[in-house]
Order: sequence, then structure tokens, then C-alpha cells
Amino acid sequence: MKIITRFAPSPTGYLHIGNIRTALYSWLFARKNKGHFILRIENTDFKRSKKIFVQNIIKTLQWLNIDWDKGPYFQSKRIHVYNNIINNMLYNGTAYKCYCSKEELEKNKQKQILNGEKIKYNGKCRNNNLNFNSKIPYSVRFRIPKNKFITFKDTIRGKITFNNDELDDFIIKRTDGIPTYNFCVVIDDSDMKITHVIRGEEHINNTPKQIHIINAIGVNTPIYTHVSIITDELGKKISKRDHNLNIFKYKENGYLPNALLNYILRLGWSYGNKEIFSLEEMKKLFNLENLNKSPSILNITKLNWLNKYYLSKLSKNDMINYLKNFCNKKNINTNNGPKLKNLYKIFYNRCNTLNEISNLCFIFYKNPDYNNNDLTKKYLNINTQIILKIFLKKLNDIKKWSLENINYIFKKILSELNINFKKVAMTLRVAITGLKNTPPINNIIYLMGKKKIIYHIKNAINFIKFNI
Ligand code: GLU
Ligand code: ZN
Repeated sequence: MKIITRFAPSPTGYLHIGNIRTALYSWLFARKNKGHFILRIENTDFKRSKKIFVQNIIKTLQWLNIDWDKGPYFQSKRIHVYNNIINNMLYNGTAYKCYCSKEELEKNKQKQILNGEKIKYNGKCRNNNLNFNSKIPYSVRFRIPKNKFITFKDTIRGKITFNNDELDDFIIKRTDGIPTYNFCVVIDDSDMKITHVIRGEEHINNTPKQIHIINAIGVNTPIYTHVSIITDELGKKISKRDHNLNIFKYKENGYLPNALLNYILRLGWSYGNKEIFSLEEMKKLFNLENLNKSPSILNITKLNWLNKYYLSKLSKNDMINYLKNFCNKKNINTNNGPKLKNLYKIFYNRCNTLNEISNLCFIFYKNPDYNNNDLTKKYLNINTQIILKIFLKKLNDIKKWSLENINYIFKKILSELNINFKKVAMTLRVAITGLKNTPPINNIIYLMGKKKIIYHIKNAINFIKFNI
């Protein structure tokens, strides 16, 4: 049997980590078993579905190198397929038309709430004559069979049983003529010969409905795997509405695709104590047996750790290309300063993301910003200007521009002024970079070059003059 899996997002929001985890697991499972992976866009909710989210789905998968063998299929293009089947179901009685008005259904709901009953459709139209036709708008409901239970096996959770009393005759086609998710998903999974459905735990309650439809139309039941929820660090379930979890935000912040995939892989799946997985290893080792039942918690520290690891493995060329892109995006011209290839080495092992690295690289291409009042008040003032002045004088005296000579100047200033190293270093750091934290300032001074350092120090001295 050829394994066929699918990723079936609804384009109603930006993809977040939870979506990508389902995509990743479905993709890996197909790849491991030499099967197929299908991309399907579930956009029958016309009001909430947006083109921009479809683009986001495609771009995100491409960025992460999750490739699909077929698709993207769009449910909006298959409405006639669904409606044909619904017509058959109306004909054979596995579904029926419901003419209840919105108001009527609402009234019924309020009554049930008042009586403390479970909210469900009261079955009013269930026994309408099959031939009953009216001009009034109608929805189509699935006729839940009278047998008592429905059971399915979930790979992670084992047997799950639902009492049919808990289910009502749910709508499979809305009054606007558009079929609903629970219906379309079954038809598509069957038409696309999906063997394994891997999706979020929030769909467990939909599964009995889908199996009822499967039974009614007589197609195969896929194997279900419902992966556990992901929560933020405070234990709150993550949601599409939280735009910070949009995968593209991670890209913008300088996370590498493989680091993110590795991180997401481990949110709910483990393989002994192994933490680092190359793409090849993921495809070889992934299985459904090792999925966890308990919720997974986002852990940014771990993502940062992984990203740092993957950054350290980047080739020099790749790193420089990434950094160039970041600089271009922020309109930083890297031509008037040291070459990026000489810079990144002093930065990358202290940074978690490309964004952090590029922010440090910017020091070399733009003037320091003295607008951080606390920092400038503390370090650029009448007491520290002597440090800057002496430093400037000694710089002018240097014959050879070398790290040793710069270190020598530091030593001289410490002994002449009898102050501690931190004060000298911080004053120069703020004067040259405008930042509180940077790599060792002597390295920066050396890389930046004599001319630019003199320029910054003079500016800092002027700044002090005009601000007292
Ligand atoms: N469109 C559904 C979602 O976005 C897919 C559910 C499924 O995989 O069956 O959650
Ligand atoms: Zn009705």
C-alpha cells in the first residue's frame, strides 16, 4: 500500500508552529515510507479565507523546504463534486434538508441552555418527507444513525469511543449552498486516497462525524493520528490569532529553516535523547510510535540554542549572503566599512539569530545613536570626556594600526587616569556604537579602522560639549 498523507490548512490566518508541525509530521511520514505528500487548501469558508494566507502557506512551506508531490488542491474548486454526493445522500436518506430558520435554531438553543441541556439540533426536520420541497432556504444535515457508539483507533491515544447521543445531526451543507469542513474533508481524503491523517488534537471531536460520513458513503477510513496541543510557556494553547507565532516572523528574526524544523520536530516527538536532526535523519527516523501524548510547551531558549548551532554550521558564503540580505532590507550600505566576511566571526558565536548578528554588524556601517538617554547620560558626560580626549590623542600617535597597539593604549589610559577597565571600555563602547552590549570593544575598534574611530570619538566629544 502506498502511504499518502496530506497537509490541509484553512487559509484563515498565518501558519503558526502548530500548523507546521502537522505539515512536518505528515511530510516526514510520507518521505520515510516513500509515499506521497499532498497539499490541499481547505477554503470553503469563503468569508474568512484570504488569498494572502494562501500565499503565506505556500511561501512558508517553500522556505522550510517541505515539498509536496501533488497540489495545491483548492476545495473551492470542488464544490460541484461535494454537492453531487450530497444530492445522492439526500436521495438515499443518509442526509436531509433542514428548513429551520436561524431564529428558530437560536430559540431552541436558548431553551436548552436554560434547561441545562446539551446544545444540539432538536431533529425537527429529521422526519420530513423525503420529497418535501419548499422554496424556503435550507441547509443539509447528516442523519446520525441510531446505533449507540462509534469507535475509532488513534495511533497515539488508542481506541476512542463516542456516544452517538453526544452528536447531533450536523450540517454538511450550509444554506448558502456551500458544504462544510467535516464533509469536504472526507470526500477529499477519499478521492485523494489518503491513508494517514495526521492533524491536531482539536480535531478529535470531528473524527466521529467524519467516520459517520465515511460509513454512509462507503469509502475507506484512513488511519488517524491526533498530535497533542502546543502551549506557550505560560500553558496557554497557541492560536492562529497570535501573529507573533507566524512562521515568517521567525524568518524575519533570523532563524534558519533547519533550526526551526528541528525545533518543531521535537515538539511532540522524540528519539532517545537525540536533539539535533539533519533533514536526512528526520526523514529516516521519524515514526508515529514515538509521538507524545502530553502537550508540548514552546521553549524559545531551546530554539535559540538550536539556531545558534545551525548558524555555527553555515558556510562562510551562506552566512555572508544571509547577512547581506538583512543589511539590504534595513537599507544598510555595507560598502563603506569593513567587509562582512571579516566581521561575522567575532559576532556569530555570541548571537542566537541572524538578526542579532546583523544588528551588531550595523555598528560598522552607520553612526551611533546617542538617543538612549540613560546610557549616554551615564557614559557620555563631563567626567568621561577626559577618557575620550586622551584616547583620541593616543590614537593619533599610533604608527601601526594593530590590536596590540590598541590594547597598549587601553593600558596606558588605565594607569594614567587610575580608573577601572570597565569604565574606559563602556565609555568608548557607547561613544563608538551607542550600544550597551557588544563584543569586546578593542576588537571593534581594530576592525572599524582608525579614520572612523577618530570620527566617532570626535562626535562623542562634541555631543558632550553641546549637552552640558
Ligand atoms: N482545515 C483543517 C485545519 O486547518 C484541516 C483539518 C484536517 O487536517 O483534517 O485545521
Ligand atoms: Zn430543521
